[in-house]
Amino acid sequence: MSTLFLAHTEPDGTLAKAALEALAATIQLAEALGAPFSVGLIGENPGPAAHSIATCGATRFLTITGPEFSQARYATDAAAAEALCRASAATLVTAPATSRWNRVLPGVAHRLGGRADSHVTGLGASNGQPCVTRWFYRQRMEAVFTRSTRPWLLALEGGIAAAWQGAAGTANAEAVALTIPAPRTLVTGFEAPAADQQTIRPDADLLFVTGAGWTKKQADGQIKVAEAETLIRDFLRLSRSSLGSTKSLVDLGGEGQSVLPFLSHLNQVGQTGSTPRHAKGLSTCCHGEEPHTVGWRFIGERRAISLDANCGWARGKADILYVADAFAVMAQVNALLTQAAESSPQG
Ligand SMILES: Cc1cc2nc3c(=O)[nH]c(=O)nc-3n(C[C@H](O)[C@H](O)[C@H](O)COP(=O)(O)OP(=O)(O)OC[C@H]3O[C@@H](n4cnc5c(N)ncnc54)[C@H](O)[C@@H]3O)c2cc1C
Repeated sequence: MSTLFLAHTEPDGTLAKAALEALAATIQLAEALGAPFSVGLIGENPGPAAHSIATCGATRFLTITGPEFSQARYATDAAAAEALCRASAATLVTAPATSRWNRVLPGVAHRLGGRADSHVTGLGASNGQPCVTRWFYRQRMEAVFTRSTRPWLLALEGGIAAAWQGAAGTANAEAVALTIPAPRTLVTGFEAPAADQQTIRPDADLLFVTGAGWTKKQADGQIKVAEAETLIRDFLRLSRSSLGSTKSLVDLGGEGQSVLPFLSHLNQVGQTGSTPRHAKGLSTCCHGEEPHTVGWRFIGERRAISLDANCGWARGKADILYVADAFAVMAQVNALLTQAAESSPQG
């Protein structure tokens, strides 16, 4: 049994937090199996990244170097991963579940005659063999299982282990030669929303969820979408929280109605949406129905603001329910956050 940990460097040449978390999980697994592990790195110049994790306990550091490996591209990423797997002769391969690795690992497993599993949330050993944990059926069932096919490639979810934090050193990196035909795909750049427009922030402490109530007629008989938009945007800017939504609200946006234009289906939390992980969650103007709250499975402390004292949150879904008008509460919260920001030394 030998394990290969795969990682790609970031544009600045370092390893991302997700890679260091996957490395820590791989180290724990190698210890549980009593088996050695190697590191395989790809990037424009992965040498410094190898030195940064030199003391992690890996027996070998294999690298594939070149400008063509600095960017996400199926052909080059898959070829590099395949070459590293073959060079290490690993029977088990772990990698952080980045978009780059998620895209190529199944194809690499096929080339190697192995199998791949995604969304792995735990690693363990049973009778000297590796076993993995992952969720099925939209996070409703958790299974621990093993496979006999090798190599077995595993994409490890973020946050399943604390990021590795050892000392840097000198890694004796072995360059793996790889000749690839001229790529047909040229990556010319990225188009991404400005940081302030980016509302999904997996690293945020708080998940802030908006429900359809923000767009409903309020006590005075008026619809106040513009006010809702200002309150939500201000809160996101001041708190740096991640924005989630109910299905009802994003569906309204999808129908072309002028409601909260910064929401898309990517924000949807729930059975047919995402299941984000945050220490805390605050739900506003949302009823707290099961298909929505099932997506709160990995939220630590849950609070909700709803006008309905009999809503789903009141029935055991939230730790604390504020039966209140979210417009009034969030205006007050934003005022307090603004005050705190102004009085803090950082401004
Ligand atoms: C197969 C299936 C899959 C589904 N998957 C998902 C999913 O993945 N995610 C998801 O979210 N839903 C999902 N749903 C839909 C889900 O069942 C609910 O219909 C949806 O979550 C309701 O959204 P909501 O709470 O925003 O809207 P509503 O049910 O309309 O609730 C709005 C709430 O806002 C409150 N409110 C109004 N004004 C204020 C105010 N000023 N202050 C405070 N509170 C106020 C109201 O009291 C009410 O409780 C699914 C449904 C099905 C059938």
